[in-house]
Amino acid sequence: MINTLVGLIFPNLCVGCNGVLLAAEQHICTHCIENFPETKFHTLPENQLEKAFWGRVNIERAYSFLIFRKQGIVQKILHELKYSNNPELGIMLGQIYGSKLREYGIGFDAVVAIPLHEKKQKLRGYNQSDCFAQGIAQSLQCAHLKNVVVRNKFTDTQTKKGRFDRWLNVGDVFGIETPDLIQHKKVLLVDDVITTGATIEACAHSILNYTPHLSVASIACVVNQ
Ligand SMILES: [Zn+2]
Repeated sequence: MINTLVGLIFPNLCVGCNGVLLAAEQHICTHCIENFPETKFHTLPENQLEKAFWGRVNIERAYSFLIFRKQGIVQKILHELKYSNNPELGIMLGQIYGSKLREYGIGFDAVVAIPLHEKKQKLRGYNQSDCFAQGIAQSLQCAHLKNVVVRNKFTDTQTKKGRFDRWLNVGDVFGIETPDLIQHKKVLLVDDVITTGATIEACAHSILNYTPHLSVASIACVVNQ
């Protein structure tokens, strides 16, 4: 009753279209979800995201849920995830995408997220990539591993160096703690947005020291049209 009254005074609005959400809807309305700009990369082996990693790092498959466009719904969603204290939205997106992967018989032993910089994690209180990872793991009924991949401490000072210096040290940016948890496992590495793929690449190299079965996924990526 109280919730209904609060809902009348302060209706929940869709992150995508600002329309009023129905009681059964959360964060994003059904219309926006049904019209998401999807990459469908999970249905396309050798898709353009996978090709972007060829010759750089040996991953099995690359998936991304949505196509990123400036000013579009995906930019609004990513903004909401980063700045509006809405971890549940990230989990929900992961659950939706996990269901789509499952429909195609895609599965993993474990899902891990690229860790945020420590300062950002403290500021935001959560890691949106990890929320997406959690939702995917729930839908695929596999392990969601936290704190396996860690950012090595010196990364902050490294970003002040030139591009070439950073490239030399790329293998040292991420460390693996408790490697037993991913040893020889089929792992999905998750990030929020893939643009150049440099972060995924660096992290993937660290994981590949322990298992050859690595795929990557993101909430969104930039695609060439
Ligand atoms: Zn909407």
